[in-house]
Amino acid sequence: MASSTSESLITARWIVPVVPAGLVLENHALLIKGSTIQDLLPVDSARKLYPNATRVDLPQHLLTAGLVNTHGHAAMSLLRGYADDRELMDWLSNHIWPVEMKLVDYNFVKDGSTLAVAEMISTGTTCAADTYFFPEAVAEAFTENRFRGQVATPIIQFPNAWAETEDQHIQKGLDFGDSIKDNDLISTAFAPHSPYTVTDKALEAVRLHTEALDLPIHLHLHETKDEVESAVSETGIRPIQRIHELGLISESLQTVHMTQLIEQDFDLLADKGVHLAHCPDSNMKLASGFCPVEKLKEHGVNVAIGTDGAASNNNLDMLEETRSAALLSKVVSADATSVNAFEALAMATINGARLLGLESKIGSLEKGKLADVIAVDLSSINFQPIHHPVSQLIYTTTGHQVSHTWINGELLYANNQFTQLDEARLRVVVEEWRQKIESVS
Ligand SMILES: [Zn+2]
Repeated sequence: MASSTSESLITARWIVPVVPAGLVLENHALLIKGSTIQDLLPVDSARKLYPNATRVDLPQHLLTAGLVNTHGHAAMSLLRGYADDRELMDWLSNHIWPVEMKLVDYNFVKDGSTLAVAEMISTGTTCAADTYFFPEAVAEAFTENRFRGQVATPIIQFPNAWAETEDQHIQKGLDFGDSIKDNDLISTAFAPHSPYTVTDKALEAVRLHTEALDLPIHLHLHETKDEVESAVSETGIRPIQRIHELGLISESLQTVHMTQLIEQDFDLLADKGVHLAHCPDSNMKLASGFCPVEKLKEHGVNVAIGTDGAASNNNLDMLEETRSAALLSKVVSADATSVNAFEALAMATINGARLLGLESKIGSLEKGKLADVIAVDLSSINFQPIHHPVSQLIYTTTGHQVSHTWINGELLYANNQFTQLDEARLRVVVEEWRQKIESVS
């Protein structure tokens, strides 16, 4: 008998393992042992084989892989709704950057990241790629709450509370990388903010370090038309060309946004194996443009989904974001078959894992993978009748229907309640920050 007290047997009405694509299992069970998915099998056999496992019965739920948010700035959750309905550069230069200069420190980032983690765990995200100042505070917030993430270290040519110069950002990034080497939940990357805020010299240094250390590069690229036009008028070339000439276009590159692409870019991105974090809500809210997801897919580029920070979204709900990605791709490609529900779910899970280099560990419910798992409650009258559970998941539910979240085999959210995170304390801390932000505005 393969049973022990550390085993949990989850039975669910539907299990969608993501891999193989398109599969919906009914009356199956998932066995978690320690941090790992040990088995996926019919309920009858599971009960016989694992009679002593702790049972979690979810008779009206859909169980699937935890969602992977491939781009965000967790601490900016404290700026949710702070300066809405503005153009990107007005929003950044006149509102976000000034308040960041006044208030961002270790505690701001730790508390803001904890707020983001609470939202992500409760809405089904189990892994997030983050880039912000004080990455050590982000990593602490993630680790304390048993949340998985790629915590990238920022590089920007403007002095800030975390670092003064580009060189200092890079050195602090190297030190941070050393500090998380033994942390099984956290990986890292270098995140030069964008071509327009980082010099060639720093981008070259980033390339050398990431090649030597086998680390990814996470980069906002071609977010707006203005970014591309300004670069062309100043340097004569488009930012993607400059990044290519600096040797950064490779399978280690995680690009973010990419709303301004022309024909020649598609082959380049596909040939080099570049990954793309598509952030549809942020792009729509800031009127940045549309990422041509269908064309990227046709060329074989890996497209995953990110929410961006809550200041430009205004939430971190990956189910909502995935619905936006599916709907927007239909509009942009003028093709209602573009990004079907299964493809959308893959973008939010396995494609995200691939972008982060974690495809062998997370992103699907397969034996031997880490147990990052979510359950979505489809019992409400609002979801009836259920002809196709994955369509219901993508087009009807939001993160509010997520009832259970496991990360690394730990049940962190059960029956819509946190099992570890202190929500009451977090509310007090967040209100204190709201008052401080108001006082400097
Ligand atoms: Zn961003």
